[in-house]
Amino acid sequence: MNRITHWIGGAARPGTSGRVGPVFNPATGEQTSEVDLASAAEVSEAVAVARQAAQEWRSASLAKRSTVLFKFRELLAAQTQELAAIITSEHGKVLSDAAGEVARGLENAEFATGIPHLMKGSFSEQAATGVDVYSIKQPLGVVAGITPFNFPAMVPLWMCTTAIAAGNAFVLKPSEKDPSSALFLARLWKEAGLPEGVFTVVNGDKEAVDAILTHPDIAAVSFVGSTPIAKYIYETGTAHGKRVQALGGAKNHMVVLPDAELDAAADAAVNAAYGSAGERCMAVSVVVAVGDVAGPLVDAIAARLPKLKIGAGTDPESQMGPLITAQHREKVAGYIARGAAEGATVVADGREAEVPGDGYFLGVTLLDNVKPSMDVYVDEIFGPVLAVVRAETYAEAVALINDNEYGNGTAIFTRDGGAARQFQFDVNAGMVGVNVPIPVPVAYYSFGGWKASLFGDTHMYGPDGIHFFTRSKVVTSRWPDPGTSAIDLGFPTNR
Ligand code: NAD
Repeated sequence: MNRITHWIGGAARPGTSGRVGPVFNPATGEQTSEVDLASAAEVSEAVAVARQAAQEWRSASLAKRSTVLFKFRELLAAQTQELAAIITSEHGKVLSDAAGEVARGLENAEFATGIPHLMKGSFSEQAATGVDVYSIKQPLGVVAGITPFNFPAMVPLWMCTTAIAAGNAFVLKPSEKDPSSALFLARLWKEAGLPEGVFTVVNGDKEAVDAILTHPDIAAVSFVGSTPIAKYIYETGTAHGKRVQALGGAKNHMVVLPDAELDAAADAAVNAAYGSAGERCMAVSVVVAVGDVAGPLVDAIAARLPKLKIGAGTDPESQMGPLITAQHREKVAGYIARGAAEGATVVADGREAEVPGDGYFLGVTLLDNVKPSMDVYVDEIFGPVLAVVRAETYAEAVALINDNEYGNGTAIFTRDGGAARQFQFDVNAGMVGVNVPIPVPVAYYSFGGWKASLFGDTHMYGPDGIHFFTRSKVVTSRWPDPGTSAIDLGFPTNR
């Protein structure tokens, strides 16, 4: 059995807790590896090594840090296919999708190569007579990332590229369901010349997470995962004096207005609902069909579904792979039954798809006439299930989104620029697409939702990432000529 270890001090480190977790290939149902689950003592040991490394790394010049980032970017680009194969073997998504995930993470490395520019402070000459004031950005020290199963490479890359470029040591606790990508990234960092201990991987479950959240030497925690855990991470981390950004779940709505280009809207709905088997935080899980577009739109989506090829992610023909675990597959299948029982119209039933073998496959499901009171509308299903809610008006569609618990992403499909502009003004969500179904911002903007999709105040990567992983210091300085000072107990004024 393959063993997935920790990575501490620039080398693979087998765990000592005596606890391991299983890792499966979702396309076959076979257990392929076991992953070490860290104890609190192992987390402490890793943090001590990272703390030492952080002291030195913050002294490395911006030029040196930028050089390491450039090299890391080159290695990642050259080894995209190897990393994609690892992602597919443990997550299940199709290889092209896995390579796409790496490509988006690569953009974060590219952004971070510009760290000399990004770390610039500001300078005010002559703030008072003979006095200059300037601000500098400094790293926090040891920072941690806790990441979900659905993007085992991209989400760690969102965090570690920015954190490391800013001069921090980064401790990653990846999902225990698909941890090998994290170890692959660790080897790339080492090859890129990153000093030992600046990038650490501790594998584990709640025990390791709790050790991170309460460790006095960890200054900040960046989290991505489901909403209940995000809330727990935010509350526990901040109660222990840490800076925390915790991104949670989603229920992303795509509004289709009557004037939308029907084929484009139907294609987008299918791509965004069923890509990666719906296991994307930016997946479209609800289409809000406004007015008389509903009937033709549901027909157009339904017509596309029989052609989708579902199978192992390693098969170049496959467009959609399995779900992450057998348990999750059963949970998603249960929602289809619930939707039917609640009165939704089951236009396509994913339970009827047949894929040979013991993989965790589920076909695509389309539910029409879904009402906001139904569980299939309220809950984040995180599977290949698309709900269609029919709305009479634009105002009704926007009210649905704004009343929803989540506010990650949303999209509008229309040919009316004025309506799109009004939507962008009205809607309560962190990321908006106009005729773009998955509006994941490019790396030089930042990624984050509103409401229960994000706890904390900074978004991830890009400018917000630099802000999150640095703290500012303001220096007030004067260089008086000898003999010009005097005793004055009054409050200093800026004259
Ligand atoms: P999850 O919340 O189950 O796990 C995320 C991380 O938290 C993992 O590292 C896991 O080990 C840890 N964890 C799980 N349970 C814990 C507990 N009780 N105590 C402490 N730590 C715990 O999420 P997941 O199933 O891996 O990922 C899917 C979820 O992530 C979905 O809800 C999805 O919407 C969300 N997600 C959000 C974004 C975003 O940007 N908002 C991006 C990707 C995924």
